[in-house]
Amino acid sequence: MLLATLIHRASLPGPQVTPQQALDLLEVHYGLGGTLQSLGSQQDLNYRLDSPQGRFVLKICRGDYAALELQAQHAALKHLGSHPELHVPRVIPAKNGADLLSLDVDGQALHVRLLDYIEGQPLTHLKHLGPELAAGFGRLCGQMDLALADFQHPGLTRTLQWDARHAHSLINHLLPVIADEQQRSLIADVAEQAERRVQRLAEQAERRVQRLAEQLPVQAIHLDITDDNVVWQRDAQRHWQVQGVIDFGDLIRTWRITDLSVTCAALLHHAESDPFCILPAVRAYHAVNPLQQAELLALWPLIVARAAVLVLSGEQQVSIDPNNQYSRDNLNHEWEIFRVATSVPFELMEAAILGAVGQTLPAIAGEGFAPLLPGLVGREFALIDLGVLSPHFEAGNWEQPEIDTQLLQQAAAAHGLAASRYGQYRLSRTCPDSAVEPDTFPLHVQLQVPSGTAVEAPFAGVLHRAADGALRLDGPQLSVRLWGVTPSVHAGAALVKGQVLGAVDGGLKVQLCRGAQLDPPLFCTPSRAAAWQALCPSPAALLGLACDAEPELDPQALLARRDASFARSQKHYYVDPPRIERGWRNHLIDMQGRSYLDMLNNVAVLGHGHPRMAAEAARQWSLLNTNSRFHYAAIAEFSERLLALAPDSMDRVFLVNSGSEANDLAIRLAWAYSGGRDMLSVLEAYHGWTVGADAVSTSIADNPQALSSRPDWVHPVTAPNTYRGEFRGQNSTPDYVRSVEHNLAKLAEQKRQLAGFICEPVYGNAGGIALPPGYLKQVYALVRAQGGVCIADEVQVGYGRMGKFFWGFEEQGVVPDIITMAKGMGNGQPLGAVITRREIAEALETEGYFFSSAGGSPVSCRIGMAVLDVMQEEKLWENAQVVGGHFKQRLEALIERYPLVGAVHGSGFYLGLELIRNRQTLEPATEETALLCDRLRELGIFMQPTGDYLNILKIKPPMVTTRQSVDFFVDMLAKVLDEGL
Ligand code: PMP
Repeated sequence: MLLATLIHRASLPGPQVTPQQALDLLEVHYGLGGTLQSLGSQQDLNYRLDSPQGRFVLKICRGDYAALELQAQHAALKHLGSHPELHVPRVIPAKNGADLLSLDVDGQALHVRLLDYIEGQPLTHLKHLGPELAAGFGRLCGQMDLALADFQHPGLTRTLQWDARHAHSLINHLLPVIADEQQRSLIADVAEQAERRVQRLAEQAERRVQRLAEQLPVQAIHLDITDDNVVWQRDAQRHWQVQGVIDFGDLIRTWRITDLSVTCAALLHHAESDPFCILPAVRAYHAVNPLQQAELLALWPLIVARAAVLVLSGEQQVSIDPNNQYSRDNLNHEWEIFRVATSVPFELMEAAILGAVGQTLPAIAGEGFAPLLPGLVGREFALIDLGVLSPHFEAGNWEQPEIDTQLLQQAAAAHGLAASRYGQYRLSRTCPDSAVEPDTFPLHVQLQVPSGTAVEAPFAGVLHRAADGALRLDGPQLSVRLWGVTPSVHAGAALVKGQVLGAVDGGLKVQLCRGAQLDPPLFCTPSRAAAWQALCPSPAALLGLACDAEPELDPQALLARRDASFARSQKHYYVDPPRIERGWRNHLIDMQGRSYLDMLNNVAVLGHGHPRMAAEAARQWSLLNTNSRFHYAAIAEFSERLLALAPDSMDRVFLVNSGSEANDLAIRLAWAYSGGRDMLSVLEAYHGWTVGADAVSTSIADNPQALSSRPDWVHPVTAPNTYRGEFRGQNSTPDYVRSVEHNLAKLAEQKRQLAGFICEPVYGNAGGIALPPGYLKQVYALVRAQGGVCIADEVQVGYGRMGKFFWGFEEQGVVPDIITMAKGMGNGQPLGAVITRREIAEALETEGYFFSSAGGSPVSCRIGMAVLDVMQEEKLWENAQVVGGHFKQRLEALIERYPLVGAVHGSGFYLGLELIRNRQTLEPATEETALLCDRLRELGIFMQPTGDYLNILKIKPPMVTTRQSVDFFVDMLAKVLDEGL
């Protein structure tokens, strides 16, 4: 009887009312007119009315639906009206004062009502809902349940197919709609398991044992707080904010936890196949409306049951009403939800849900274990560090196959016995250029012990042999799995505690697990580690070995220590940055072994962790490190090599420690040589932080006060930005030169001697935009004519990074008077240089000596030369040209596909991707760029917004970056742009 009602109702066709008939209804009964737009619905008919009085939703449903239920909805909307934290539509009374009209249209009995329209949009279209949005859904659901906890109405007692209490019988009834035998039995099987888990016996707080289902609190709930029914709008930061909840059509009194199960199930088709995406929702719900343990345990089984109901109802609906596009579209989502919901064991999600709110699975009662390897009790094991910081790993040797086993074998050969640590994130399992977390967390211990070592049952149980050759001993509460053991008893044998079960032969792996039916992996990802750890506890006690990983420093606490000691103006990337302690080539690796693609580090030209750098520094440090007033070979050799790279006219080098220092010195050289003080610099540029270098820096991204705080000797000229500057395009050169002429004329008029002009020869701050053609030729000539010196700041763009040429000024066909360089020169070793002509260098002598204590030290010089050697040996200049060329092409292809991508600047490994909202106005897409960078980080890529409007991805990776990494980066960029920003 009950099921018949459910199915009958689920299969009724919707009401047939034309837009004209709907307009007539509105006119007659509400006195409203305007335009109608149909809104999708599975069973009812919904129209949006745009009228002079505002926007409304006209809802029409079949007259055989109980009016009492609709009245309950209206009462609930009124009840919720007194809860300001929740925004829900108001009911608009008809002219006769009634909230609900029961009418006859073309012989159909219909219920008609009118509600407020809530501005905004549902997020159904978003492929990816991140943790913030998931939490938004969970919080809203918690607030709704809290607000409805005291709401009562006779219309709430109803029979509805979405009521989780009927899920099991409904599933069985609807199963025949699935034609495919395999699919049908899969659904039947998971539904059965879900039912068993909701009906299982579970302990209550007061230690009474009762079925889980009977412990679940019951109240009025919305039952459909999903991506379809929550309306959102973006704020100024382009973060989505909830505007309100709509569609109270499923309002019912049932288990409170059903509400969250419905919300969570809806998140699963926005989850990139990760069921753990629901955890922020659970956490946020629990924070506003605490859940009982029985509810937490029932949640995942209810989500799985919901997934089965969704698929079956969807199939049923499509079979009845094949032309309903709304139902057809939904069916794909419903299958995706089912696929994700059944991709992990129930036990894992139950542990994860408990863990998300700080609870744990009930402890295992037991009288202790017998030793697994009794012959080795008390013997010393070498515990081998296989973690991210392990001294055994260098120069990428962790990428060798089976390296962990080899290290254990070597240690065993030296010490007799060796073991890995349970729960120590393994560096060898890191995965470069991957958008997903690697499974680095070991849920087992690997041991190297003599072959033939006896293995005994740590507890009583039955021995099984798995397909992969592992042995499994199933006790009443725990199973132990063993690899590398030859059994001495037959499979199926019941063993007593302490009975010999076999002998070690080769490498031994030991894994403990709650439950024989679980088939846990040997490794899991960091975000699943806590949940798997609850199911696969450490086997340390079986082994009598303190082999658990040392607890890691809490990254939050470490960040707090940084903030409390390291001056705050020195910012860090990301609000919640990963802790990075190792790098290799063009990747950075966090403490959990995740590799991030490094697209930021123009300093580490050779890539991270280069063994040549380590060796060079170690060797020179062990010989000598001192200052340049001593006589040693490296300083002459390095200076000669730099001059060999510079234009022929240059014959003198200064060695310093940074780009700022180099630019400061260059300004002083200009002062000394010209006898003047006044400097021209281009707007929107950055040259360093020291007093002099900062004076000529005007980038507001680096210093918001830059424009108002220039000293009077600095004269900024218009930023020659051909893309978004005051003058645009390739013909803008004369316009930009005019700004220089104007400033020079002013100085001449005031009889002030010009000192010089400083500029990046490729517009670095704006992502490597080429200067207007011929700009530097004309400007350098004007500056020199007025007695000034031309400084090329090559700190970012020089040294072959641009691919096409070694120095940036080559693009403009000019030769400066002074080159400044730093960053990549030392691959991270503090190293900068000023290269110039003798007469300019010697001019400084009128002011005294120049000395920089660590500038040109033996270590710095050796490193500087090794950097040049490696760049040559590893063909990094060629790489910048070839892979960089491919990079630019791939980025340029995005311009056509995505309106947000305005332009690609630069060349080689110095590229700028400029994001804009409008191709005419070039309105900078600042907030979108920030969101893009945050999302890229989730996908394993470090990228930051730069430029004065923070709307440019300044792409300047290590010069060892490969084609694979470039393709990964561009693919991920496209993926995020597809997801919508
Ligand atoms: N000039 C330019 C163009 C730079 O980009 C920078 C650093 N971002 C500097 C100078 C200053 O270099 P440093 O940080 O080594 O002092």
